[in-house]
Amino acid sequence: MNDKPVFVTQPYLPELSEFLPYLESIWESKILTNGGPMHQQLEAELCEYLGVEHIALFNNGTIALLTALQALRITGEVITTPYSFVATAHSLLWNGIKPVFVDIDPITLNMDPAKIESAITPLTTAILPVHCYGHPCDVDAIQAIADNYNLKVIYDAAHAFAVKDRSGSVLRHGDLSVLSFHATKVFNTFEGGAIVCPDAKTKQRIEHLKNFGFVDEVTVVAAGINGKMSEINAAFGLLQLKHIDTALRLRGKIDALYREGLAGVKGIKVVDESGQDKANFSYFPILIEEDYPLSRDELYEKFKSINIFVRRYFYPLISDFPMYRGLPSSNKANIPVADSVSQRVLCLPIYPALELAQVEQIIAFVRQQSPA
Ligand SMILES: *Cc1c(COP(=O)(O)O)cnc(C)c1O
Repeated sequence: MNDKPVFVTQPYLPELSEFLPYLESIWESKILTNGGPMHQQLEAELCEYLGVEHIALFNNGTIALLTALQALRITGEVITTPYSFVATAHSLLWNGIKPVFVDIDPITLNMDPAKIESAITPLTTAILPVHCYGHPCDVDAIQAIADNYNLKVIYDAAHAFAVKDRSGSVLRHGDLSVLSFHATKVFNTFEGGAIVCPDAKTKQRIEHLKNFGFVDEVTVVAAGINGKMSEINAAFGLLQLKHIDTALRLRGKIDALYREGLAGVKGIKVVDESGQDKANFSYFPILIEEDYPLSRDELYEKFKSINIFVRRYFYPLISDFPMYRGLPSSNKANIPVADSVSQRVLCLPIYPALELAQVEQIIAFVRQQSPA
């Protein structure tokens, strides 16, 4: 039994004293937002750390997604996954775009490229895949389809901070990649987000869009939004970045311990992590299969009863929410794998401050439900 509740994630907070010099610097400059020195520095350091050319910082990942769609002037229909956080599809609705859901691959839990082509119509303008749990999508297959049909690709990379594949950052793929720096994510700025883009011209357009469309004092070129990251958020990002390698290493230890401890448990399937050369261990999803003694929801409730709050990411599917339910592509027959996985998935706690003894306890708890 745990006196203190254990949640699925916990933000990584360095010592408060480490943050004070950043605050003093902001107080001294009196620059609170609008692309101040902290913002400029975080942009530069993130480009360097992530190994990308251009990055535009935002006040959150959802506004960044909305802006990414606007930047590429996406309209009509966009092909996406129902197996994600609801903001992925909401960004389409807020832009007056119709989401078209395709099923996921049963191994990677990412959009199944083999399902994309049959979902394309004359109205399709883009594909919006998600690197779910930070596991890279089949980027080559997706790009090949996009090239064939002249579609844009925007990756919802909210889970994929610092993830690398064989050729480098996973954020280099597609036309744009969108990050979230929300408190629950691997790298956080309390609230925050970013768009990674390949060229300076696109970055310029994004910068205009995130600042109401202003180009200069008297020129507005687009119906932009307020997507700017404040100095205090950027400052916290700079501090987080100093600790990110430690945070990732600690997460990696937990991931390894879970993998070892849960291997061979009847009815428990650990989600594959291939495709990445450098993972970020942002989530630890397991699938509860038929031959496990408890159902997923029973195990979820049992964890709750000992004060461990595991999460059913992603359940319900986006396509089950009322504003999506009526779409033809939301039909369960169209997305059977996503439907099945969302009934079986459970994400276990993983965050830098989680003690290995607690991980052992969680593993033992999962094992102990098995018949002897
Ligand atoms: C967190 C998340 C978002 C939204 O990011 P916010 O910064 O919270 O607005 C979008 N998509 C996915 C897949 C997410 O996990």
